[in-house]
Amino acid sequence: METKTAKLLDGKTLAEKIQQKIRERVAQLQPQIGRTPGLAVLMVGDNPGSAAYVRNKEKACTKVGIASFGKHFATQTTQAELEDAIALLNQDQQVDGILVQLPLPRHLDSVSLLHQIDPDKDVDGLHPVNLGRLVRQEAGLRSCTPAGVMRLLQEYKLPLQGKQAVVLGRSILVGKPMALMLLEADATITVAHSMSHDLKAITQNADILISAVGIPGLITGEMVKPGAVVVDVGINRVTDASGKSRLVGDVHWESTAGVADFLTPVPGGVGPMTVAMLLQNTFASYLRRKE
Ligand code: NAP
Repeated sequence: METKTAKLLDGKTLAEKIQQKIRERVAQLQPQIGRTPGLAVLMVGDNPGSAAYVRNKEKACTKVGIASFGKHFATQTTQAELEDAIALLNQDQQVDGILVQLPLPRHLDSVSLLHQIDPDKDVDGLHPVNLGRLVRQEAGLRSCTPAGVMRLLQEYKLPLQGKQAVVLGRSILVGKPMALMLLEADATITVAHSMSHDLKAITQNADILISAVGIPGLITGEMVKPGAVVVDVGINRVTDASGKSRLVGDVHWESTAGVADFLTPVPGGVGPMTVAMLLQNTFASYLRRKE
């Protein structure tokens, strides 16, 4: 008998398609507008994980013709110095998007810095104005990871209206905006978190299950409703018995793939979509600025 395996929600391929489209539009518009879009990524200190993320974003910018105005600050940089840098970037006509790579060294207040970014250049979609626009269902820059999940679900024409969606995690970065975007798409939402009782009883009801927790193997097949769509936002580095390190999500792949109808891989699922949405937000901001 043939064993059932969930269909992959291939974020890598879709992200490449989106990037290709942005590249074509930038090449078309640049002669008319007289400049390419610009993204400024501010990084402080030498966290190797952050450095890798920043490199990845800059590489993606180069691929589509977006100029990077990356700024790398020493660990001991002060809050005031960063605020000054953000103020200059807010005024800079070459810059359409600004983001601060997190985490920051402990002496810095990341929330207060985020508030200094011009909401119309806030390509991470995390400024209170943009989160407010999301709550009000007004147009605005949407936070990249949940926007990437929505785009992926749309690509595979997975219906959301009236469906029971469960979001695990309630961070400002992922869980909360994710729940709001699903609500905007007329799904019925449950948000679970570290204080939720009986996670399995909650997840078993989910037609759409989104895990954004950061615990490898948290979701096993027995917690998943047969036929569900499972989106694994988690990125966790684990070391296997042979000492080799690799990235895994929150979902235990082997037990879940036989139960769910659709499943995102890690890596190659939500991660590339997040970068694609960052480029898309930067491009959207560029278009708005030319109006
Ligand atoms: P976070 O700020 O640490 O939030 C984690 C959330 O999970 C919190 O709301 C927490 O609940 C909840 N949680 C913790 N233990 C739980 C449990 N046992 N059961 C249910 N919920 C539990 O993390 P984040 O920034 O949202 O990121 C979540 C994961 O997504 C991480 O693995 C991160 O690396 C990954 N991520 C991936 C991408 C991507 O592009 N693929 C982008 C961003 C983040 P409380 O609120 O009660 O503490």
